[in-house]
Parts: sequence; structure tokens; C-alpha cells
Amino acid sequence: MTSVAASPLEENLNRLAALRLRTEAFIDGRFVPAQDRATFPNVSPRDGRVIAHVALCGPQDVDSAVAAARRAFDEGPWPRMHPRERRAVLLRLARLIFEHREELALLEALDMGKPVSDALAVDLRVTVQSFEYFAEAIDKFSDEVAPTGTDTLATVTREPIGVVGAVVPWNFPLMLASWKLAPALATGNSVVLKPAEQSPLTALRLAELAAEAGIPDGVLNVVPGDGPGTGAAIGLHPHIDAVTFTGSGAVGRKFLRYSAESNLKKVSLELGGKNPQIVFRDAPDDDTVAEAIATGIFFNAGEVCSAGSRLLVHSSRRDGIVEAVVARARRLQADDPLDPRTRLGALVEEPHLQKVLGYIEGAVAEGADVLAGGRRVREETGGYYLEATVLDGLGRDATAVREEIFGPVLTIQTFETVEEAVELANDTPYGLAAAVWTTDLSTAHLTARAIRAGTVWVNCFDDSDVTVPFGGYKQSGMGRDKSLHALEKYTELKTTWIKL
Ligand code: NAD
Repeated sequence: MTSVAASPLEENLNRLAALRLRTEAFIDGRFVPAQDRATFPNVSPRDGRVIAHVALCGPQDVDSAVAAARRAFDEGPWPRMHPRERRAVLLRLARLIFEHREELALLEALDMGKPVSDALAVDLRVTVQSFEYFAEAIDKFSDEVAPTGTDTLATVTREPIGVVGAVVPWNFPLMLASWKLAPALATGNSVVLKPAEQSPLTALRLAELAAEAGIPDGVLNVVPGDGPGTGAAIGLHPHIDAVTFTGSGAVGRKFLRYSAESNLKKVSLELGGKNPQIVFRDAPDDDTVAEAIATGIFFNAGEVCSAGSRLLVHSSRRDGIVEAVVARARRLQADDPLDPRTRLGALVEEPHLQKVLGYIEGAVAEGADVLAGGRRVREETGGYYLEATVLDGLGRDATAVREEIFGPVLTIQTFETVEEAVELANDTPYGLAAAVWTTDLSTAHLTARAIRAGTVWVNCFDDSDVTVPFGGYKQSGMGRDKSLHALEKYTELKTTWIKL
């Protein structure tokens, strides 16, 4: 009898079947159910099936997690360790994540629908780098002595802020958590992390790996749950010193209110974007630009805060660029996220798919031409798949041009002058990112300077590194993740003035 070799998809399904999923909250160094035993169904977007029932933490569970974090901070070894020792623990954690990268990538793909190959190549790589970078940074700093004259000694020292609440979204569950956890833990804080209800699995597994790496009990707690129950309890908690949030503007505003209504905890916000890709007359060749534009909007099914969702193209380059982008959109076939060959996975959940479809229908009603995509596909799988979509013919006030869609949907606008391009680019309440395509040095610099956004790419898109800050101007948020600037969110400055 000849045996048929398993396909790469079957191999991944077998690997997943062998995993023991972590579904309870992680509080004070151990997994525990919610105190009232409540759970929520965790659904996979690849087929709409329930993967697991996960602890639904309420305010009482958040209380326990905060109490554990408080004890660890006020009495425990973590903030008192030599920075070199914290560095060693966090480097061990980075190593463990690296060793478990395939398992974690599979969990991410299963839980939120991104292609497993992207999860491995991007999410896991960046997560490991994030822990390595902040671990390595932490024993390289010295504090300051101020120039106050010979009769005093005034030192300016950085101290950990205390207990940090981290609330993150579902689009890069582990990676965005690592952007918060690595700098917060490296500086000696304790953390209560709430993953998004759509994607809790990797955060729970991370907590287990953190304990294995040697992070003391209570220093990292993970409380899965929803926004109004779990997230609000973190925002309002009187013993949390700072909240670091990534998500929508609407919820970001709530965290500012929670802070005002409770203990004025520090709040940093990484919010949405409606990011322009500006293609000037003298941009590089059509294929180079179109490739980056298509990747910039269709990567992670457009569920990216920095997705290049608005193409602004000079009229002389319009036909060539649009044709090349549309060809790429049509070639992209949505497929099973667990298949390593898949380039376009599933959207995260049915309501989000319906929301994105609603934007497309609304755009058509407002006169859009659908140049590519626009339809739900693979519905027979039970999953939430959408074609890569390109919308043309919309005015600058159309809803699809103004609002963040957070799906694989590109709109097109045309301009004639540099001034018009800049004006269109800035005509948004957001200011997260933008790209400028030109071979003219002055146009590149002047446009980059004129755009009100936290990141401007020139002749590339989405290139990044842990060494540079990420975050937004205007309603894209406040505070920065990544780079040494991220440490500011997790530390307080202390002046000690000594009369000599
Ligand atoms: P969301 O704001 O709905 O949810 C984010 C987190 O907040 C989740 O953990 C959720 O449970 C929690 N939450 C929801 N309602 C809450 C409430 N009332 N009180 C407290 N917590 C609550 O966002 P989402 O839909 O998960 O993610 C998409 C958004 O995130 C998009 O707007 C996207 O642009 C943004 N985002 C920004 C960045 C960035 O770095 N700037 C990165 C990724 C995503």
C-alpha cells in the first residue's frame, strides 16, 4: 500500500491538533478560570468554528490581576533586580518565543485569519526582535546629573511607573503586545495585559513562556475578555498607573475618559489611520510602485493601521499605475490562512466582514467603479473571506475615502500639483503614516516635511525596524511604540536635589 504524503495544510492542521490550547486567565503566575467561571467562544475566521471557550474575565478578575501586579511591583524582586538580570530573563523569553515561533504563528493564523507564512515572517520575527531590543537596551543607560552649581547635587533618574495596563487589538495580537510588554517589563514594571477577544490564544501562551523564562509571579498577568467588561475594568482601575492602548479611536477616547473618571492614570494611544500613497509624475516605474501599493493595502487583508488605503496619483501616471495595481489585486486569491501558500487570508470575524462589505456597498451607492474584487468569497467554508478590492471614481468626501475601512480596500484619487497632493494627503483627521513616490530629492523632502504623520516612507512602504518610533499625529494617537522613545511611556522622571 502506498501512503499519500500530507499536504502543507494538512501538516499544519495536524500540528495544531497536537497543541494544548491555553484558555484560562494567567494571574500571579498560574492559569485560573474566571472567578464566576464565565467563558466566551473563541471562533476561527478560517471556517467560523469555535476553537475553544476562553475565560471571560470580569472586574473581579482584573482586581486579582492588579493586586498581584501591585504586590510584584511594591514588594517583589523584578523592579529591584540589577538591570542585567532583567535583561537575561527577557533574552531568555525572546529565545523561547523564537523556539516556539512555528506554534505561535499557527495559533495566530488560526485565531485571527492572517496567512501563517506572514505570521511567521513578520509577527514572530518582530516579536522576538522587540524583546531582544528592549532587553539589550536596559543596561546601557545612565541617568543625569543636572548642572545646578557647586553647592548642590541634582540627579534626574528614571523610575518604573508601576502597574501598567496593556489593551491590544486583534490584527497583530502578539506583535503589538510585544511592543508594549518588552519596554514595560524591561524598565521593571508589572503588567496586566488584555488581548482582544477575537485573538486571545498567543497572549496566553506567551504568559506561560514568560514564566518559563523566569519572569516572577505577578509581573505579567493576562486577562482575556471583552471591551466593556474587562477593558473598562482596566481603564477605570484605581491601582493601575498607566494604560498603553492600541485600537480604534472610539475606544481610545473611552480610555481618556476612564482615566479622568478614576485616578488620572497616564494614557498612551496608538489609533487608526487613513494613509495616503502619493505617486508623483516622476515616481519610479509602474511595476515597482504598484507592487508596493498592492502589498501596502492587501497585506494582512488590509487590517493594518498603517495600510496605504488611499492612492493619490498624478494624472499622467494614473493609467499605468492603476492597471498594474488592479492586475495584482485580481491575482490575489483569498485562501485558508493555515495553508503556507496563502497570501490573502480571512477577515477577523463576521461582523467585521459585514462592516467592510457595507463600506463597499456604500461606495457603489456613492458612484464608485469597482475595478477589482468587492465580493465575499469561500462562503462555503464558513469563513470570512473577501476579495482584494479597488474602488475608483469616488470624490474626496465619499465615506470610503474618509473613514478607516480596515480591510483590503483601496480608493483612488488623482491630482495635478505637489500642493494639491499634500492638501489631499493631509485632508484626514488621522496622521499615522504616508508614502511619497518620486525621484526628485526636493519633492521627496518637501512633501515628507509637509505631511502631518508619524511616519513618511519615500519610495517604499511599510519598511520598519524596532529602532524607529511608531505612532501618530492628530487623531492617530499620542505616545510612541518601539525605539528608545517607547521607554518614556513606562517610566517617571525623578529629580533628587541634594544640598551639599
Ligand atoms: P477596538 O478599539 O475595538 O479594540 C481594541 C481593544 O480594546 C480590544 O482589546 C477590545 O476588547 C478593547 N475594547 C473594546 N471596547 C472597549 C471598551 N469599551 N473599554 C475598554 N476596552 C475596550 O479596536 P479593534 O477593532 O480591535 O482594532 C482595530 C483598530 O485598531 C483600528 O482602528 C486600527 O487602526 C487600530 N490599530 C492601531 C494600531 C497603531 O499602532 N496605531 C495598530 C493596530 C490597530
